[in-house]
Amino acid sequence: MIPAETVAQAHAASILATAYLCGSTSKTLLRRGSELNGPCPACGGRDRFWLNEAGNVFLCRASGEGGDAIVLIRHKHGCSFAEAVEMLTGERPVPAATHAPVSKNEDNKFREWARKDAWDIWQSGRPTDPSRGGHLVVRYLAIRGVAMPDWHIRALREVDNLAYWHKRASDQHSTIIHRGPAMLAAITGPDGRFIGVHRTWLDLSRPNGKAVIADPDTGEVLDAKKVKGTQRGGRIVLRDGEPGAGLTIGEGIETVFSWRELREDTTSALWCGINLDNISGKALGQIPHPSLTVKDTLGRVRKAKVGSHEPDLTDARCLTLPAGVFGRLTLIGDGDSDRFSTQAAMLRARKRHALTVPDCLIDWADDGLDFNDMLRRLRERRPARAVA
Ligand SMILES: [Zn+2]
Repeated sequence: MIPAETVAQAHAASILATAYLCGSTSKTLLRRGSELNGPCPACGGRDRFWLNEAGNVFLCRASGEGGDAIVLIRHKHGCSFAEAVEMLTGERPVPAATHAPVSKNEDNKFREWARKDAWDIWQSGRPTDPSRGGHLVVRYLAIRGVAMPDWHIRALREVDNLAYWHKRASDQHSTIIHRGPAMLAAITGPDGRFIGVHRTWLDLSRPNGKAVIADPDTGEVLDAKKVKGTQRGGRIVLRDGEPGAGLTIGEGIETVFSWRELREDTTSALWCGINLDNISGKALGQIPHPSLTVKDTLGRVRKAKVGSHEPDLTDARCLTLPAGVFGRLTLIGDGDSDRFSTQAAMLRARKRHALTVPDCLIDWADDGLDFNDMLRRLRERRPARAVA
């Protein structure tokens, strides 16, 4: 029997905070006054979910479910009333938020549309090779202390004037808030087909070469890197490599190029895995972070949890490697973000990929640095030398 007080506390939990807890994000829910609308965090779709912040209630048009935070938790996790109350009051851990499956048809339609859009952007680019008219990427990499590779990189292009679209907080309409030069990278899926375009907006007058783009309403500085199309399960092939020479994977394009200079690697295949989640895939469980904390729905401070070292092998939407093609795998570990969570993700990535490439190691950057920082420090000590 749960005390009435505890039930009342769960009834009063913020419906918006609970929707976020269930996997909604400020990007998926569009706000209209005190109402928000978007895909249901429990059963997906595109606009079936309505949330009224003033009334502290939700409605899912597809399932007919509606009510307070307890009903939403039950719709999401299919649990009992008592379990939902315990999750909302912090007595029971809430399963990690997974994004609800979007219905197959809608998902495919949306994906196909985004892929076409991504292809058009990619097609608008020109080669980065200085011998073929490229001049932006070579200058951008020079600012980052990276030498322009001397091979033709099929997956990289550049464009002089690319629009940066952003959904404005004021009216939730997408508008162009910036235009400028950009580096384009083709993302390919496991079968080698184009699935998306990775874009980095450049400003070659700035110390790190990247454009500073701010939300015109809030002033919040936005990410100068964006993906159009799909990135999950994708990779950016920066070098094909020599047969049997192994494969090296890092999170960013600049990181991978910095690594190959520092390690003087001239033969391995080089892939950019786009982001750590894509490289490591989902975890089977969670482990408590030693120092990071988060606030729960009731504003209480709790220890943050991060994905464990054990890969969830049912996750098919992350980077997968072909068996028997690469003799050795090197995973590039950057030490510049939170070391504990990065290390957990990297160990998980190694366990996952060692199933297809058993000879698998993690090459860590020095503490507190990424490979680009290390390369730049080396450059300060030693002037640029010719790099193969
Ligand atoms: Zn629903």
